[in-house]
Amino acid sequence: MAPHSDGVRILSLDGGGIRGLSSLLILEHLMERLCEAQGLKEVPRPCDCFDMIGGTSTGGIIAIMLGRLRMTVDECIRAYRKMAEQAFTPKRTTWLPASPSGAFSATAFEAAIRDTVKEFCPEAECAARRASGHSTTSTCMHGEAEFRDPSCTSTVVLAITKDNVDARPTLFTTYNTSMALSGCTIWQVARATSAATTFFKPIHIGRDDVEFIDAAFGYNNPCEVLIEEARQRFPGRPLGQVVSIGTGLGDVVSIDDTRFSIIKALKEMATTSKAVAGRLDDRFGGDGRYVRFNVERGLEDTTLSDWNKASSISAHTRNYLSDNRRAVDQFVATFLGRDQQRDEIESEAVPRPLLLNRPCIRKNQDAAKLLGFIARVESKAIPRSMLPSAGSEQRMTRAIGVLCGYSFLSRREDGTTYDMHRLVHLALRVWVNKQDAAAEQRREDLVEAERQ
Ligand SMILES: [Zn+2]
Repeated sequence: MAPHSDGVRILSLDGGGIRGLSSLLILEHLMERLCEAQGLKEVPRPCDCFDMIGGTSTGGIIAIMLGRLRMTVDECIRAYRKMAEQAFTPKRTTWLPASPSGAFSATAFEAAIRDTVKEFCPEAECAARRASGHSTTSTCMHGEAEFRDPSCTSTVVLAITKDNVDARPTLFTTYNTSMALSGCTIWQVARATSAATTFFKPIHIGRDDVEFIDAAFGYNNPCEVLIEEARQRFPGRPLGQVVSIGTGLGDVVSIDDTRFSIIKALKEMATTSKAVAGRLDDRFGGDGRYVRFNVERGLEDTTLSDWNKASSISAHTRNYLSDNRRAVDQFVATFLGRDQQRDEIESEAVPRPLLLNRPCIRKNQDAAKLLGFIARVESKAIPRSMLPSAGSEQRMTRAIGVLCGYSFLSRREDGTTYDMHRLVHLALRVWVNKQDAAAEQRREDLVEAERQ
């Protein structure tokens, strides 16, 4: 699972306030599917799956938690909700436009970030304390830890200097060595990426005391910037898989919020995110290296700050994921396929051409047997009862799960009938025929030898 293969893997997270919860739920689903497809005991951490994790605004905060603090998605969801409750609670209730000093309390937000750093502190002594069952929230002394940390997965956070909004964003990275940004703490970087004038007041940080605001207006979808950054960070390595996750800012942003500036902000963020997604779609087409997940409908009425909407966000995201099962299957197959490209085939019983990149099937002989069987029958409407038994119901379910995980098989609505992907079936047939012909040849040779 470690990012060792030559293709660089990037996780890109859009900004979007409390809707960032939707990105996290999507990511959680992707991680769970990877876990299932590989038969792992624990859901993997994104920092172990990606070479670079980056984000803008609240996406930047999530990137910090997943990359710099090495949190699991589940931990991140809990922390994010807690943080949102503390920080995205308006300073005052008013229907007047938000004041330029920010509509939410920056101090509450800073405190919330510091608490999260302490609670999930990755320093050895704190990690050890948590491993023995104790909380580090009150004992950790690393609340002011530096963002820079060459030992974690490359984490990139976008922000813009207030004096130069049209310039390219400043990238805060965990591996950067520039003096100007040295000494920035984790919470300062979190503030810099989310300091939109609409939400929080700007922040002055770094040696030169530069004033930062968040990059959501020009770079709400940071994916293009991250791809460029990855090329420089990992020279000579090709692009592996790029996963870009949106926050449900669809075509039309229509929210019932009396603060006009927030509506305007959302519209601009939606527009820039969509433009980037469109350009990347054109660039990568459907080659599987680039995948974008974004709940396009249903979150329209969720403002950036409406943390009471958590359950509605989660319901819409689940619907989205169930409607986009194929895209998720495709992601899992591509992700695992590229990871194991150079592995050797261990088993002769496994159809070679298809399984070169499928370690899970190689390990699961039941799945391999099922493939061999289906290759000899029709590819459509295969009843489960027709499949050769794998010994126990549990093994059977697991074997079928592996094949579905790679989109080799798809389960019909009735839950007991399967279809095999047409091309998979074709390739299997070719292989089976070759195997059969070779076996036939061996038999003939044997008969010939006995005759002599
Ligand atoms: Zn600590």
